[in-house]
Amino acid sequence: METVLIAVGGAIQCARAALEGRPAFGLLRPPGHHADQNGSWGFCYVNNMAIAIKKLHQEADLRWVVIVDLDHHVGDGTQRIFVSDSGILVRNIEAVEREEYLEQAQSVLQVIRKADLLAVSMGFDTYERDLGGLLKTEDYALLGSWLRQASERLCEGRRFALLEGGYYLPDLGKNVLAFCEGFE
Ligand SMILES: [Zn+2]
Repeated sequence: METVLIAVGGAIQCARAALEGRPAFGLLRPPGHHADQNGSWGFCYVNNMAIAIKKLHQEADLRWVVIVDLDHHVGDGTQRIFVSDSGILVRNIEAVEREEYLEQAQSVLQVIRKADLLAVSMGFDTYERDLGGLLKTEDYALLGSWLRQASERLCEGRRFALLEGGYYLPDLGKNVLAFCEGFE
């Protein structure tokens, strides 16, 4: 329970920092994107991202939030929580091979027209040696830089990302670092 609370607190701090113009990455465990008000699965207990966004809504004037979920698994908890919230757009990528994944990620970002804040559920289980078997380390730097550029175009760079999945531990650190270098 204590670990869960620390993770949620970390997510809230990341969201606050982003809103103040400081990009942030939350190195959190447990992840949260499969959790909703009624239950959870997939190593998730509470939805870090959803709680952070709802908390920020109480604290700031935030109309449009975009949540991009780049985990190998669809962030179904996040989707269910925000399904009837017209100010929050949740986007997942579902692709079966690398080129398709990167193209989809790029086009998802390109079509976003408005956001006050860009939030990212960043899973690394899309990695070529992880469950998804798709992406290389350099792809995470690319994804990070596309997200940074999208946030600069949409909302003066206000952005943060939270760690979701990622189970190939020998390379998880280097993939997170590559992402952060692109995301800055
Ligand atoms: Zn996952």
